[in-house]
Formats: sequence, structure tokens, C-alpha cells
Amino acid sequence: MSEPAVTITHRGEDRVRSGHPWIYKSDVAKIEAHGGDTVRVIGTRGRALGHALYSDRSEIALRFVTRDLAELASGFWRERLARAIQFRETLNLNATAYRLVHGEADLLPSFIADRYGDYLVVQALSQGMDRLLPELTRHLVDLVQPAGILARNDPRVRLLEGLEQRVEVLHGTVPEQIEVREAHVSYVVDPYRGQKTGLFLDQRENREAAEKYARGRLLDAFSYNGGFALALAPRCDDVIAIDISEDAVARIRVNADRNGLTNVQARAMNVFDELRELERRGERFDTIVLDPPAFAKNKASVAKALSGYKEINLRALKILTPGGFLITCSCSYNVGEADFADLLASAAADARADVTVVEKRMQGRDHPVLMTVPETFYLKCFILRKLN
Ligand code: SAH
Repeated sequence: MSEPAVTITHRGEDRVRSGHPWIYKSDVAKIEAHGGDTVRVIGTRGRALGHALYSDRSEIALRFVTRDLAELASGFWRERLARAIQFRETLNLNATAYRLVHGEADLLPSFIADRYGDYLVVQALSQGMDRLLPELTRHLVDLVQPAGILARNDPRVRLLEGLEQRVEVLHGTVPEQIEVREAHVSYVVDPYRGQKTGLFLDQRENREAAEKYARGRLLDAFSYNGGFALALAPRCDDVIAIDISEDAVARIRVNADRNGLTNVQARAMNVFDELRELERRGERFDTIVLDPPAFAKNKASVAKALSGYKEINLRALKILTPGGFLITCSCSYNVGEADFADLLASAAADARADVTVVEKRMQGRDHPVLMTVPETFYLKCFILRKLN
């Protein structure tokens, strides 16, 4: 049988020209393929455009893997993985946990591979990648020689692909607890149940950057397993870490103990309520971290998200001492960097504070942004200084 094929419309072709690898269902004209196939993509005049992963359920019908017209060579996937892994090796990351493969930005759309010490945690988030998973696993075993590979195929996006949510060991064995290190901080990670694949690896370099400014009394809001709190604690007098999840707070305590940090207090609370309460009590902090979950999960929730971001940033600026630093993040890609900067400016004005931008940052370098795919630039991090 010849390679399965999908023909796209004029509008689809325009999108291909813009460099975006996704073609929506509404831009598909003719389908000679099954869901999960790697297909030849054909333009309106029968012109071949490249190869893509086809999904028969998602709104994203095609995900381009190459605009090269030749048949996919036998070593194609292995080579893609090898390049992604090799790039991470050149980064000299001071950590044993980091992202090896970041989907679109490694030209492996909808595939994620994270390294946690001797283990890998992977996610296949489309029908095409789900089908390729056994092959990708074989190559990863060969290239990285991990002691085990876990598939954390439980994100909800898999449902949009008609795929089941499943967590399973694909190779070797994977323990319930993995020990990893990020610079001077050691963590125990639960790869089976932790958020994302276990840790928020995308913030590693922002934690490192924040260390340069942290001092005095620190408030780490939306702390999860204590990422910022533990990294900054050695530079601070005392630390309050807040997260709404009891599990997360229990882990902050375990991780603080492991690192011999006695100045970290972890509290299971709602940050919105607690910021209001801290303000009412007249408490002050010299360093504050705000790292909330994505408030804008889609376009419809942007307005509400902006008001949520504004509220926490306004309150944080009010309880920050003059000369203090606010490390503030947004991981909603629906709220762009300029929108985020605007709302921070408006929070500063409302707090009647003069605030400068000390650093404007993004997700770590092991989570690259693909220029033609705005969706891959999701994490914004501003380090601000309150002058007065
Ligand atoms: N700063 C962390 C990552 C934070 S992820 C790190 O560096 O690793 C966002 C966290 O916010 C999650 O752990 C989630 O449990 C928590 N969260 C969500 N809504 C919250 C709320 N209203 N109050 C407190 N924590 C909340």
C-alpha cells in the first residue's frame, strides 16, 4: 500500500507557509488515512508538502514532522530524538532532572520526554505519537540507556484524541520515588502521581536566577513541592511556602528536611485568601514569588485570568518591602508577555509603588520556543524590584 495521504485546503497551505506545523480539521479537504498514521500531506494542486501525523479525532488534524518530500528514512525518528538529546548535553545543566524532548520545539510534535536521574518519563499526546511510542521507546533505551521509562499518558488532552489516560512502565522498572538534584537542592519526586511528569522543570533556570536577589523574609506562593522556596531558603532568614494541596505541602516539608533547611514553613492554604490576610495583618516580605497555575486555560477564560493575575500581583506589591524583589510568573500562553507586562504595570500603579524590571525571563532552555509556534512560548517570568 502506498503511504496514507491527506489533502489540505488553500487556507491549510497558507498555514504551512507560515511555518506552523498544525493544520486544523476545518482545513482538511480529503482523507486517505487512518487516525494515528504518518501521512503524506498534499496541497490543492496535488503538490506534495511534506509528512505529518494524522489524527481523526482532534481539532488539530495534522502535525507536520517534516516539509521534506522524500519518504521518511528508516532512521528518521531516532535521529530526531538523538538531536534533541544532544542539544541538552551542550547546555551543561546543573541538574539531574530536565527535559530531553519538548514536542514541537524538537520537531517531535506532541511528544515529551523528561529525565529524572536514571529514569525517563514520557508523554505521547496525539494519536500519531501514541502509535509511534513503542518505536520511540526503543530508540530512547538505546540512546539514553535509562534504568526505566514511565509513560505518564494521563493528561486530559489525550481524551481529545480519543486516547485513554494511562500510566505504565514501558521499559525496566521505575520506583515510586526518584531522587534528583537541581543545583544545590535535592528532591524526591513521585513520577507516577506528581504534577506534569513529577516536577516543574521549566522553572529551574528562573529559580536559579531568583537566587541572585532573594534575601530577608521570603514568601513562596503556589509553591508545589517547594521549588523556589528550597532554592532560595539558604539566602533568606525565613521562608513561608504556600500551596493549596496538602500533598504538595507534605512534600515541601520532606524536601526541606532532606536539605537540612530549618527556616522553611509550609502551609496548605489558598494564596488568594492568605495574601489578603497577610495584608490585613500588616505583614511584610523582602522577597515574594508568585508562580500560579495557568489561570487562562483557553481564550474564553482570559478576562477572568487577567483579573486573577492582577489581584495577586497587586497584593504582593503591597506587602513587599521597599527595595524588595517580586518574582512573578504566568504559564498561560493565552496571556502574552505584553499583556502580562501591562497588568503588572497596572498593579504597580494601583499599589502606588515605583517598580522596575530587573529581569524578563521565560521557560528554561531545555524547553525551547519554536519561533513559528506561539503556543510554545508559554512561561513568562518577570523579576521586579519595588523602589518605594
Ligand atoms: N512554584 C512551583 C510550581 C507551582 S505550580 C515550582 O517551582 O515547582 C502551581 C501550584 O499552585 C500547584 O502546586 C497547585 O497546587 C497550586 N495552587 C493552585 N491554585 C492555588 C491556590 N488558589 N492557592 C494556593 N495554591 C494553589
